[in-house]
This record gives sequence, structure tokens and C-alpha cells, in this order.
Amino acid sequence: MNRRMFLLAAALLTGVAGAYTVQKGDTLYSVASANGITVDELRRLNNLQDNTISLGQVLRLSGTPAEAAAPAAPVSAASPKNEKAGSASASPISTVNTGLPAAKLPDALSPEQLVPTPPGTHIEGVDISVANTRLVMGDAFVMRLSGPRAGDVTVSFPSELGENVRRPNEILRPVGAAGEYRILGRVVLGKTTPVVYQVKLGDQLVRGQIPVANLDQPIQHLNLPPKIGGLLKDPGRAAEEKTVENVYELRTPQVWSKPFAPALNTRAVSSSFGQPRTYVAGGPVNYHYGLDYPAPVGTAVYAVNDGTVVIASKFPVRGNLVAIDHGNGVISMYFHQSKLLVKVGDRVVRGQKVGLVGTTGLSAGPHLHLEMRVRGEGTNPQDWIGRIWPR
Ligand SMILES: [Zn+2]
Repeated sequence: MNRRMFLLAAALLTGVAGAYTVQKGDTLYSVASANGITVDELRRLNNLQDNTISLGQVLRLSGTPAEAAAPAAPVSAASPKNEKAGSASASPISTVNTGLPAAKLPDALSPEQLVPTPPGTHIEGVDISVANTRLVMGDAFVMRLSGPRAGDVTVSFPSELGENVRRPNEILRPVGAAGEYRILGRVVLGKTTPVVYQVKLGDQLVRGQIPVANLDQPIQHLNLPPKIGGLLKDPGRAAEEKTVENVYELRTPQVWSKPFAPALNTRAVSSSFGQPRTYVAGGPVNYHYGLDYPAPVGTAVYAVNDGTVVIASKFPVRGNLVAIDHGNGVISMYFHQSKLLVKVGDRVVRGQKVGLVGTTGLSAGPHLHLEMRVRGEGTNPQDWIGRIWPR
């Protein structure tokens, strides 16, 4: 299998060259910094009058500024006439309004608000330990909380504020029993600053930092044929993204108790997760959110752990897709299959066959693209197999 073909297909899963679709939790700042441009530049390229962006809105990241936008009247109040005016600049990267509420601008905390509490600071009845002392971007990790009050704390990651993260700084409750609890953390791709965690119980608070190292991968510069980029204009794309985003919002109870298992009896393209790429010369850097496992069409695909099927249908980019909700904000996703063997609502167990490898959707050859999402963010599947939780 031609590696470059894989890269091309994989590249297509991360976005249109030079454009970005606004997702939950995005801010002008997060989009700008994730793409190596300034907020002013982003506003100029998109003729934005203020800091308001909307879910599903497509932002230019490079090139020449968009046509002057329609007056910034509230979209919900737009008359049919106004809507027409809005779609007049209907290039593929013009504004698409999904009717969802405007994304709020979560401000980053000041450095003082992220300073760790002094060594020895303790919450009565709670011991905190972090499994990984050094993380790289794309890592999932576990914080352990033990002691008689460990189940009563709340945990958040305030360093996520101002970053390109879904539901930044979400208040999390630890999972466990009998004085032994855990919290799942994630390091978003692109992040190199420390993860800051905050554990609270009443008015007692412990704040700590975990250093984050860069993934040592050189940026790949791909030049996508315009023809392939055109496939992304499929009218089903918005529905595809909406379906996936809805699943990222799920917060159901954790149903797994055994370690995660491989999805295929074959090895992945080891460097593909987190690979930074550009698609046009000088364009923005995007990341690959999954791992690619080349395998012949028809190879069995297995559920990596117990869970409930929340997506089992065909999409323009992901092809025949299965998504399994394992609870506790963890979703596994299996792209490009030739055949699906489960349906939405099915309860599946670890190792159960859910489908067959294929090359449907935007795929250049038979392979499984596997993603492990933690509260919507891509983490390295290799962190999970036989590891992470429990361990
Ligand atoms: Zn892939």
C-alpha cells in the first residue's frame, strides 16, 4: 500500500486546506493560534466585525479576504431576503450557518490563576497522584484520587481555557469506589504548554502542573490535488460533522472494566497519529486524529471495549462509520469500513465484531482509521490498547 495515498486520505479527515469549520468551544483566539496566524489576521481574512463566531461557520485561514460579509444582524432574525444575501458569496469556504448558537469566547486564565498551590497543600482525606509525569500532545492519562473523601471532589483542567478544546475546563467527577477513584485527562494535539489540573473539595483546593513535550514529528507538506479537495464539498458533510459532534457531547456512565483490546489483528502505521501536516505550501498545520491500520477489505474489525453503538452509518468523509460510546466521555470510532455489522443502540462487548475493513469515504486504500476520543478530543489509540484504564 502506497504510504502517500494513506497520507492523502488521512489529510482529508482533518479539514479543508486553508479553511476551518468552527466547532464547539472554539474562539477566534484558539482558531488563530492553532493555525499559526493572529486574531487580527483571522478577522481580516473573514471580514469579522467583532469576536463572534458561530458553530459550523467556515473560516478562511489563508489567501485573500472574503467578500464583505452581510451586515452583522442577528442570524436568527434574518429574513429570507437576508439569507439569500448571505449565501451570495457561496464559495465553498463562505459562511455556513448551522442554526446553532454562537460560540462563546472563553478567556484564558491569567498566569497567576494557573500557578500550582504550594508543595504540601493537601485536601483532607484525598491523595492525588498522576500516572504520567511527562506527557506528549495527544496523550490520554489518568489521575488517581484515593482516600475517604476522594469520591467527593471535583476536578477540572483550567489550562484548557483559551485552547482549541471542546468544553474547556469542564467540571468532572471522579469514577471509582471504596476510596479509589480516577479522572481521565487528555492533552489536545498542538498543545505544548503544561496541563494544569485543579482538584476541589468545598473550599479546599489543590492545583498542579504536568509538563507537556512536543510530539517529535516533522511537519509533512502535502499538496492535495484540487480534485480531492472538491470531494469535501459534498452536501452531506455538515450532517456528518453534526452527527459526530453530538456523539462527542455524550457523558454516560463508564461501562468498561477490562483493558482496551486491539480493533484489528494487524499493526498500525505507527507514526500516523498526531502527524502534523500542511496541505498547501505555507498553509496552516493540521493534525491527524487517529491511527491508520492497513488491512485487506473484509478483515474483521473488533470493538476495543464494552459499550453502546452510537453511530453506524455511511458518511462522505468517514465512509461506513461505527462509533461506540464506552461511557465516561470515551468514544471509539472505526472509519472507512466495507460493511457494518452493528446498528445504533446495540450493546457490544470487547472483541465483538462490529464491521469489516474497507475503503469507503475519503480513503485511498483499504485500511481502518481508528480514533479514541476523550470528551471529544483525539487521543493516541496506542495509549489505550492494554493500558490507561485500568492499569
Ligand atoms: Zn487516518
